[in-house]
Amino acid sequence: MKKFYITTPIYYPNARPHVGSAYTTIVCDVLARYKRMCGYDVAFLTGTDEHGEKLERAAAAAGQSPSEFVAEKRKLFVELWEKLGIPVKVYPESDQNSLRFIYTDHPDHAISVQRLLIRARENGFIYPHRYEGRYCIHDERYVSDSTEPANCDICGRPAELISEENYFFRLSAFGPTKPDGDDGLLLSLYRDNPNFVQPSYRMNEVRSFVKSGLRDISVSRKRLKWGIPWPDDPEQVFYVWYDALTSYMTGIGYALGENGSAEFQKYWRNKAGESELVHMIGKDILRFHAVYWPAFIMAAYPGQPEMLPTTVFAHGWIYYEQDKMSKSKGNVVYP
Ligand SMILES: [Zn+2]
Repeated sequence: MKKFYITTPIYYPNARPHVGSAYTTIVCDVLARYKRMCGYDVAFLTGTDEHGEKLERAAAAAGQSPSEFVAEKRKLFVELWEKLGIPVKVYPESDQNSLRFIYTDHPDHAISVQRLLIRARENGFIYPHRYEGRYCIHDERYVSDSTEPANCDICGRPAELISEENYFFRLSAFGPTKPDGDDGLLLSLYRDNPNFVQPSYRMNEVRSFVKSGLRDISVSRKRLKWGIPWPDDPEQVFYVWYDALTSYMTGIGYALGENGSAEFQKYWRNKAGESELVHMIGKDILRFHAVYWPAFIMAAYPGQPEMLPTTVFAHGWIYYEQDKMSKSKGNVVYP
């Protein structure tokens, strides 16, 4: 039986779910149901992205621990999907006809993230390096990864230039060997798998971004507390993308057993075209899914293309009077 594994992005639970999240989840539910009707063995995953300074701050403001706070917010998402007629099973529970729900505060997720990182580190893709960026001392938050002057978008104060020793991922090793080159692991991946990014005009955007050359990225932070601890360095936590993206693997059993659970072996590993693994996302997070994510996987599992997703599908946004809906603009519709 052919396998089909589809994921929504994991949502940031600093507020209740809005109609944009419902849109993505409903689209994926339609696809999951369609594939089941076609006789596929389907796994369908959603979840919540529960780390980071914004949630830590919101929890403090509510007088709760971050764990208590995110657990409460998580419930709002589970309840909404059930209200929309999508039955949910929260990790580690699951069944064939329910939406699986992973949350990044689950201890198994830390195992997954650290495992993927340690493999990349053993293969030489992680190194300590000085990070420079703009930081708001008042709000204790990273404002910008650039050294250019920037104001904090919470308090409006000019952010200070900080520098700290943290860990970098060798993203440049996956780009072309020289700018505008046609070689390298990512461009070969796109060439061999023209459906890796859909629709095709998004594939073109990703390809030209990679062709222009890639810079290494910082993947840990020293001043954050609410995050997954860095292996062997208690002063650092993982920063955003390793943590968030790896949830797609945790949700299907990557942390269970040394090589993942039987379900992980079944749905994740794309053996001889027997399974499809589709990440449905909004276009704003395309670069992270189509560039960072395959690079993180190739760094951990070099020469194992069956570990890579089949397709990253970037959809558009729901607009309200020609404006993107967003909490800061105050034009959000709640489903
Ligand atoms: Zn500030």
